Amino acid sequence: HSLQDLLLARIVDVPDYPKPGVTFKDITPLLADAEAFGALTEALAGLCRRHRADKVVGLEARGFILGAPAAVRAGIGFVPVRKAGKLPGATLGESYALEYGTAEIEIHAGALRPGDRVLVIDDVLATGGTAEASLKLVRRAGAEVAGVAVLMELGFLPGRKRLEAALDGAPLDAL
Ligand code: IMP
Repeated sequence: HSLQDLLLARIVDVPDYPKPGVTFKDITPLLADAEAFGALTEALAGLCRRHRADKVVGLEARGFILGAPAAVRAGIGFVPVRKAGKLPGATLGESYALEYGTAEIEIHAGALRPGDRVLVIDDVLATGGTAEASLKLVRRAGAEVAGVAVLMELGFLPGRKRLEAALDGAPLDAL
């Protein structure tokens, strides 16, 4: 069995969630399976090493669940990017457009240092808006982008294309 088969077998399509016409990829069965979650964590930690990352930035909320164990396994630190208003210290913020309205995410201003190489981790790349905003935050914090790693890329959406400029040559890995 390939890693991809192992992971795909534990991701459930939920039709019409969170609204009619949208199919939500539910990763909670994968998280509940020690073999699949372990293999995913090892694979993400492997990407940290391959791309010589020295920090993982995880995106709220499922990027925390995937990114934190990968960072520990790779022996590097973890930095959360949160929805606006959740971090207690001084923050840098980035707004981005949603289908209806806007969203804002934040990072602690002092969490990254110039020269840090950051791997951004999240569960799903859809339109790429969240990942694009997070890459802007990483660069504004003075750090380098080592790459973006996601469990799943929704290939029927132009997320990869949207991220191209913000990646600036850094790799996008979808497991
Ligand atoms: P994007 O900004 O459109 O790329 O959406 C990505 C964000 O929305 C990520 O933080 C995901 O956690 C979340 N997301 C979008 N679609 C799904 C899905 O089908 N399953 C789980 N999370 C999703």
